[in-house]
Amino acid sequence: MLKKNVETFLGCDCGYEESETVVFGAPFDSTTSFRPGARFASSTMRSESFGLETYSPYQNKDLADAHVFDGGDLELCFGDTALALGAIENFTERILDGKKRPCMIGGEHLVTLGAVRAVAKRFPGLYVIHFDAHTDLRDDYLGAKLSHACVLRRVWELVGDGHIHQFGIRSGDRSEFLWGQSHVCTHKFNFNGLSETVQKLKGKPVYFTIDLDVLDPSVFPGTGTPEAGGVSFAELLNAVLTVCGLNIVGCDLVELSPVYDQSGCSTAAACKVLRELLLALS
Ligand code: MN
Ligand code: MN
Repeated sequence: MLKKNVETFLGCDCGYEESETVVFGAPFDSTTSFRPGARFASSTMRSESFGLETYSPYQNKDLADAHVFDGGDLELCFGDTALALGAIENFTERILDGKKRPCMIGGEHLVTLGAVRAVAKRFPGLYVIHFDAHTDLRDDYLGAKLSHACVLRRVWELVGDGHIHQFGIRSGDRSEFLWGQSHVCTHKFNFNGLSETVQKLKGKPVYFTIDLDVLDPSVFPGTGTPEAGGVSFAELLNAVLTVCGLNIVGCDLVELSPVYDQSGCSTAAACKVLRELLLALS
């Protein structure tokens, strides 16, 4: 039999109607501050995902049994950041209208803002759990308010003080850390404190954003702003499973940049994180 000439992420071939989670790509990297290329992440992850099994020995679950629909990639305007964010917000709203959970593949980290705008409107009192090497709390970057270096600052404007919990952070301007002390909960270097945070957020609506550069560059070199001193894959996996005990109403995986991933190991790691995330939510 001929194969359908439509690529989906591994095992995400449930129909839209019966799906609980909708995966989609936001291939946008126009505000990347250092090395662009994250726009190619979602398409590369789809093709490389077939190197993985659908079954997870970590969770004893299989993606073939999960109710996940892969809606493909959005067509985003590279020259107009506001327009691109609007398109992400609209698409996320449509998924929420269908009572489904959006799961976005970036793209650079700014794409998170589009999704959170839609999710925060739908879920008042939203909390955000943020894994990253970088604080992303700048008020502007070279004058631009819409930059991946400012994304959590823009998200804070939507969710307010004490609603953002960051983990793995090991880079940022001194002023970002100072500002963060009175507005967000920053956990530096690792996932210490995650279990306590999860206890506190039980029952609350949570948006979960994973900037994959939280991983050490030895595990994950394929990213725009690699930052030494990151967590291991096993640590990230454990942390993802812990967070997924919460009421996750939206999530994303950002900043894989396949052009810097000569060995393919970063893409393979990203695919495995997504598989485990989708299974943990199913
Ligand atoms: Mn980031
Ligand atoms: Mn980062």
